[in-house]
Amino acid sequence: MARSLAGATARCGSRRGTPSTDGFGPDSPTITTTPATRRSISRLRIQRSPSRTAVGSRGTSSSRRRAPLDGSRATPPGRRAEYAGYVAWRGTVPETAVPEQVREQFTSVFTFHEAENHLILGYPIPGPDGSVEPGERRLNWVWYDNLSGSLDRETVLTDAAGRRREGAVPPGELWEAVWNEKCERLAGFPDVFETLVRETDDPFVQSIFDLTVSSMVEDRVCLVGDAAFVARPHTAAGTSKAAGDGVTLAEAIESHADLDAALADWESERLAYGQRIVERGVQMGDSYMK
Ligand SMILES: Cc1cc2nc3c(=O)[nH]c(=O)nc-3n(C[C@H](O)[C@H](O)[C@H](O)COP(=O)(O)OP(=O)(O)OC[C@H]3O[C@@H](n4cnc5c(N)ncnc54)[C@H](O)[C@@H]3O)c2cc1C
Repeated sequence: MARSLAGATARCGSRRGTPSTDGFGPDSPTITTTPATRRSISRLRIQRSPSRTAVGSRGTSSSRRRAPLDGSRATPPGRRAEYAGYVAWRGTVPETAVPEQVREQFTSVFTFHEAENHLILGYPIPGPDGSVEPGERRLNWVWYDNLSGSLDRETVLTDAAGRRREGAVPPGELWEAVWNEKCERLAGFPDVFETLVRETDDPFVQSIFDLTVSSMVEDRVCLVGDAAFVARPHTAAGTSKAAGDGVTLAEAIESHADLDAALADWESERLAYGQRIVERGVQMGDSYMK
């Protein structure tokens, strides 16, 4: 995608030289910001030009999606991710940190356990250095919880320092009292899951969101990945969707002589795809968690 966008991609002038996941390159000072928005792309305006575009890829909390190009403060309707009604507690453990029987359970099959108001699953992922060799991998677990017990979302999203986080509390910052209370629930889970979760050093929690947008291109700013559509994780499709958005955008730009026609074709295809994946995620998630 970077190759296709070279020459067509602009960068936020206020962040010259700073690598940016929103796709603005250091040598393309073709985007201007108002003085009040120097440290943000939220109100960024692209100078109209036949060969300039920009890509917003900052995930679910994308400021680009939430702030309209007209510079107004309000998030436009339909551009805020909606809480799906449950959270995911998560963590990873080196596979060597758990007994052989537990390791075998999670490395041989994709393991799920469903309980009332909960769903937990575990599976192997590459080690910190990307290795997939036995003994070097990590075990990853995801515990979906609709918070029907004593913990409410407000409490769960309050971190160890007492700050209320917006959608997630990162590794190392969970409030210990919250996590200890959560762990009491593990007593009813199969032993392999209880061991896996208890052996986790830095668990974290994320709210699950749904998001669909009605446009992915605005004044040649293109939204890709979770900045545009957030599908519930049960689809296991978010990463390939994000990559697909980027690859197809590059292909569209390469195959059209006219940039606006390329963006319009790309948008129409990816809107339909994003919508389908989000709907599928809602169906799957609701069937487990409601
Ligand atoms: C519990 C859970 C489990 C999941 N499991 C799977 C799975 O098994 N398979 C799958 O395919 N998908 C899964 N997903 C979804 C997947 O993680 C996302 O769909 C995917 O990561 C989206 O990619 P993205 O690049 O659009 O956004 P992100 O991965 O969120 O990347 C956005 C990047 O932008 C950066 N950023 C944000 N703001 C700024 C800023 N102001 N300046 C600079 N950088 C910034 C962020 O740090 C981040 O690196 C799961 C999601 C959740 C919540």
